[in-house]
Amino acid sequence: MADKIKKNLCLKDGSMIVIIGGGPSGSFFAYLALRHAKKLGINISVTIFESRDFSQRGPKGCNMSAAVIAKSLYQKLIKEGIDLPDNVVRQEIKGYYFQTKEYGIELHRPKPGENSKILAVYRGNGPLYSTHTSNISFDDYLLRNAVKHGAEVIHDPVQDINLPSDFETPVKVIYGKRGSLNEMEADLVVGAFGINSTIVDKMKQLNFGYEPPRTIRTCQMEIPLDDSYIKESFKDDIYVFALGLKPFRFASMVPKRDYVTVSLIGDRDLSKKNLLDFLNHPVVRSKLPPDWRMPDRFCMCIPKITLTHAKKPFTDRFVIVGDASISRIYKNGLESAYITSQLAVQAAFDKGISKEDFNRYYYRPAKKLLAMDNLLGALIMRLSDFVTKRNWLVTARLSYVENRKDSWIANHLNKMLWNMVTGDAPYKKIFLQAFNPLFQIILIPVTIKALITEVINRVYSYGSKLNERNIKG
Ligand SMILES: Cc1cc2nc3c(=O)[nH]c(=O)nc-3n(C[C@H](O)[C@H](O)[C@H](O)COP(=O)(O)OP(=O)(O)OC[C@H]3O[C@@H](n4cnc5c(N)ncnc54)[C@H](O)[C@@H]3O)c2cc1C
Repeated sequence: MADKIKKNLCLKDGSMIVIIGGGPSGSFFAYLALRHAKKLGINISVTIFESRDFSQRGPKGCNMSAAVIAKSLYQKLIKEGIDLPDNVVRQEIKGYYFQTKEYGIELHRPKPGENSKILAVYRGNGPLYSTHTSNISFDDYLLRNAVKHGAEVIHDPVQDINLPSDFETPVKVIYGKRGSLNEMEADLVVGAFGINSTIVDKMKQLNFGYEPPRTIRTCQMEIPLDDSYIKESFKDDIYVFALGLKPFRFASMVPKRDYVTVSLIGDRDLSKKNLLDFLNHPVVRSKLPPDWRMPDRFCMCIPKITLTHAKKPFTDRFVIVGDASISRIYKNGLESAYITSQLAVQAAFDKGISKEDFNRYYYRPAKKLLAMDNLLGALIMRLSDFVTKRNWLVTARLSYVENRKDSWIANHLNKMLWNMVTGDAPYKKIFLQAFNPLFQIILIPVTIKALITEVINRVYSYGSKLNERNIKG
């Protein structure tokens, strides 16, 4: 009998879907579900609970990120008929600039003329003290797009869910402000709440086996600058810094017309102090006007980023998507939100909404596509840390390649660094590019020469210090 009921765990005419969170993964799920249902000729209702108002400026209305839309996501959005309007696109990005302590190289698109764009947007309605007049929020645009296709939005936080083991009884979603709680019934609940919400711990306590991803705190700031200065200084490129500076693992400056978004990711939780250290580094300073001073008031945030993927982000009639489930580490979280939502929609409509269906048709494919590659991603990040902390090595290799423009090695390095900073290729491909035998063999003499020079310099500087001390003594 129980098995028979379980077989009936599927979406049908009149099914009610409740989505917790109206960030990218929630809006993508709603949009894709409504389109899928239409294709199947069934009527469903979709309600999204979103506690933020994305038309607000600053952290209040913002899902805190560098907000770069990778070219692969841009292509997917266009294919889905989601064409971002001009007011949402803050800047079209030409390329990337890879900046080390002593050296910088402009990376160019490995496939020039390719019909795709990289776009910089704002997740909320821009920085806290900005003065623009229109609504420029990317998340708001996606949410409105879901509404246009039939979703309903309730701007209340979800507090809890009740998942009865008896499948005849609907799932209950408890929402509202404390003191005035309401309930809503659902056939399927979708957790699209990200990793910055306290509801993550609540979901863990439901004891169906959900383990949220491990996370770390990053740091971001919006720097207001004259738009002509930004154009001249950044030339529509995103600057990625590999300064060998502890504790940073990844640092970028994204031009967005009259603001530059600074994003810092470390090997531990970051704070405002780390932001100040980064901005005071001479190489970073050189990207800012000579008379630039830290403003008295500015927009900053310390959001979490995922380091691993979740365990068991599903049970009967409940599935978790986006950051709270599986996302590529350090790269293209927005695209992972799209991919996990798409897989979960396909599993729910075409196979069923039991835990077995979600495991087989959603979780396992998502893990194969995104999570397996993350293991290599973590290894590549460590290797990159090791190399960038050895400034002599980076400088020697980059200057060698710089002098051989258009050669095989210059193109190979460009492709590898481009894939690393953009996330256009899986980490597996970057790994193979980094350990390409020809690439490594060509660089052996350069590395040995640089190492010998470094050792000589160190011995010389140690000797000079010793001499100085003897003279003083
Ligand atoms: C510093 C930094 C830089 C990044 N840069 C990029 C980048 O350039 N490009 C990129 O592709 N990705 C980037 N990411 C990753 C990207 O931000 C995430 O992958 C993406 O936001 C995940 O989308 P999501 O919908 O799963 O979660 P979120 O964007 O976090 O959305 C979750 C939503 O759920 C709502 N919510 C939460 N709890 C409740 C509740 N109880 N009730 C109602 N609503 C609730 C929240 O208000 C929020 O709107 C970056 C991340 C960080 C930290």
